[in-house]
Amino acid sequence: MEGDEIVMRLRNYAMDEWVAGTGTGTTLHHAVTGEAIGSASSEGLDFKAMLEHGRTVGGPALRALTFHQRARILKALAQYLTVRKEEFYRVSSWTGATRGDSWIDVDGGFGTLFAYASRGRREFPDETYFVDGGPEALSRGGTFIGRHICVPMEGVAVQINAFNFPVWGMLEKLATSFLAGVPTIVKPATVTSYLAESVASAIVESALLPAGTFQLICGSAGDLLDHLTCQDSVAFTGSATTGLMLKSGKAVLAHSVRFNQEADSLNFSMLGPDAAPGTPEFDLFIKEVAKEMTVKAGQKCTAIRRTFVPGEMVDDVVAALTKRLSGVKIGDPAVDGVRMGPLAGKGQVREVEKSVSRLREATELVYGGPGTLDLIGASAEAGAFFPTMLLYNDRPFDRAAPHDVEAFGPVNTIMPYRTLDEAAALARLGKGSLVGSLFTARDDVAREIALGTAAYHGRLMLVNRHSAKESTGHGSPLPHLVHGGPGRAGGGEERGGVRGVLHYMQRTAIQGSPETVAAVTREWSKGATERGDRIHPFRKYFEELEIGETLITHRRTVTESDVVSFAGISGDFFYAHMDDIAARDSLFEKRVAHGYFVLSAAAGLFVDPAPGPVLANYGLEGLRFVKPVYIGDTIRARLTCKQKTAKEDRDGQIPQGVVHWDVEVSNQDGEPVAVYTILTLVKRRGASSVTATSAQVERAMRSEAPDTVTPAERMARTEPGSAPVRVS
Ligand code: NAP
Repeated sequence: MEGDEIVMRLRNYAMDEWVAGTGTGTTLHHAVTGEAIGSASSEGLDFKAMLEHGRTVGGPALRALTFHQRARILKALAQYLTVRKEEFYRVSSWTGATRGDSWIDVDGGFGTLFAYASRGRREFPDETYFVDGGPEALSRGGTFIGRHICVPMEGVAVQINAFNFPVWGMLEKLATSFLAGVPTIVKPATVTSYLAESVASAIVESALLPAGTFQLICGSAGDLLDHLTCQDSVAFTGSATTGLMLKSGKAVLAHSVRFNQEADSLNFSMLGPDAAPGTPEFDLFIKEVAKEMTVKAGQKCTAIRRTFVPGEMVDDVVAALTKRLSGVKIGDPAVDGVRMGPLAGKGQVREVEKSVSRLREATELVYGGPGTLDLIGASAEAGAFFPTMLLYNDRPFDRAAPHDVEAFGPVNTIMPYRTLDEAAALARLGKGSLVGSLFTARDDVAREIALGTAAYHGRLMLVNRHSAKESTGHGSPLPHLVHGGPGRAGGGEERGGVRGVLHYMQRTAIQGSPETVAAVTREWSKGATERGDRIHPFRKYFEELEIGETLITHRRTVTESDVVSFAGISGDFFYAHMDDIAARDSLFEKRVAHGYFVLSAAAGLFVDPAPGPVLANYGLEGLRFVKPVYIGDTIRARLTCKQKTAKEDRDGQIPQGVVHWDVEVSNQDGEPVAVYTILTLVKRRGASSVTATSAQVERAMRSEAPDTVTPAERMARTEPGSAPVRVS
């Protein structure tokens, strides 16, 4: 950049204020043009005070909210950011991303926020803690039981992110830690921190997150990690070398700080022995491998680095990939038709070159490489471009480099295998990866490879002609599924639905009497007090029902006519119910009532038929028929209010909540014959506690029109001390 251009000084968000670091900082460059676009510095920040601010201001505020309230904030935040999407796409293009690449990062990040907002309301209670699993019987008499509860850690979730997904990386970790009730400090990789800062600005502008729950460091993390305590955690994404250094830190070790690492990964894709040229699986494989090499110019932790192919198909695969890769236009992503942009910066080019020279010692170049760049609308000198490179290693067991070296760019090595055992052994040589994929029409092959490689992989995608169209792709981690891999991949685990949230919580075993445990968890379990009332529980509104409230029904004797009528109504003439002779020879030794009759009869016993606050039967869980019911047996039911979850208010819907009822049907000897939980939708009288943050959410949504301000303009209008600075 010529002369005294004004570029932006990225800001840090520390202790609820935007602060510019001191000093000249690190100059950041446009990946396509090489121009300086900003500088980042965190010099002068008090990292210890930032952690303390998160712990003392953000933590208590978040822990006071329930999962549902936090989830609603996440949803509002996702909506808020989505409105500003185009601004982020524009900034994302400075990283060299094509629109498709930006979609993965930007929309992928927002999608993760939406997904956790939804799971937070569906899979977590409207409470500040989570009860994990059912009661554990610890005593013969049932007076001493155990349960697990998960509570938010009372520290800060520090996230340290890699350069390749500045938005997604930040939001996937924010979604899970925020939902867990833990404040966050984000430290994006410096080289692309301008994009993280742009989204962070919008997050702060939204005013949706409580004070102290979100802070941002653009530049060095300084001595941040030296001040971690036993309640803090670190989620690190980056190279294994940096990860090792950080997790060996004194404070991390001394305080057993949770350290989740997502690091290097030598992911594989495998062509099944059946998937010869001409089969749909062969074409799908070629398409996926080429895509994974070129999307984000190969700068994806999940990109395919090792490609295993039956020996006799190597030539066909090389020819097909060559054809496909030569059709990928490389250059300025702003130009129509360009499908692959540059790497994120010149530093990354140097890193990939270093890795490639190690790979080249074990491989031959079969496509692309130095001298083959034919750029559209861009210059190789100015931009951080790197050519696609397809390598071939004909002795994959002897020449180990492709199993050890991760070139974080559009580089991939093809390796032959002879048997499935060999193929699985090659996959395992990666010493732990995030993902592997297999293209085969044979499910027996899929089973053998899946079971033979699963211990070394976090995710396996098994694709055939039937699933390909709807497949989510080799390279896409999903909020519902675990992301992370063993060994070289860092040994961490993120996302995976509820699991990703629990990472930020302490799981504690609670032991005590059923009554005491129910008082802690607010979930009734057998052995705790059963409270009776003259008013039938189905006549009570959601708020009026108490945990432990119990109805013991009248009795009913099961007759032959019941069994015959039920067979007629249901069409279920199974011999054990209808055939005296066959039933005598069966394990029941005589005819038994249908299990579903027992359920229906129990409903008839406990239901209050007149219209009232119960809106609907919502489902049934954990059903076990524990003893047969014979003709002549007399049954009754116990119905106990076990757990209540208020549902979020929706326009046009009656305010309501879900009530979990513990049901036990017993016979004339008091022996249980069926146990289960039923769920009913019950009317609420008042507004739900989950709407407590509605006003805040709506205010924020209303007050902010879509912001068309550029990051540079935003810098210019910030408070003193964070004004744009000149760099030359
Ligand atoms: P990196 O150089 O290891 O940096 C990762 C992060 O660590 C950056 O934010 C970096 O900040 C920070 N860092 C470096 N030294 C630090 C220190 N002393 N204290 C605190 N933070 C420090 O990795 P990268 O080049 O950004 O990313 C590429 C690597 O990430 C590849 O190896 C790739 O496989 C891996 N990756 C893995 C996943 C996954 O999910 N498994 C996802 C994406 C990427 P600065 O930028 O300021 O140095």
